[in-house]
Amino acid sequence: MADRISPERRSALMSRIRSKDTQPELAVRRLLHALGYRYVLHDKRLPGTPDLVFPARRKVIFVHGCFWHGHRCPRGFRPAANREFWAAKIERNRVRDRSARRELRRSGWDVLEVFECGIKPGRMAALRARLEAFLESPRLP
Ligand SMILES: [Zn+2]
Repeated sequence: MADRISPERRSALMSRIRSKDTQPELAVRRLLHALGYRYVLHDKRLPGTPDLVFPARRKVIFVHGCFWHGHRCPRGFRPAANREFWAAKIERNRVRDRSARRELRRSGWDVLEVFECGIKPGRMAALRARLEAFLESPRLP
């Protein structure tokens, strides 16, 4: 039936909804905004639809949830139940992230990935330093 989207498509849409405008992403946006940076959000024309795009600097930032993006940290654990299902799903996300990074870099964009575990009170000074270093650095050749 044409009036229903496939489970794969639905899953892709769901993961997009989940990963957009998350609390960690909002925290990064607020911080950068307070520092005076302006950016474009979720530019679908770019590979992987980066969360924050800085067109003049030719830089993009992804804000990733540790679980969905398979971060190697305590939050990135694989649940015991349905382990294989989740492992496959998260692996697909990792592959997609990797190919988006590669495509972006190939077309001249610098890419920074920030994981949610690095965005919390007590780590904001380090995060700020990292964001500023990334945004202020000259573009890689
Ligand atoms: Zn993490």
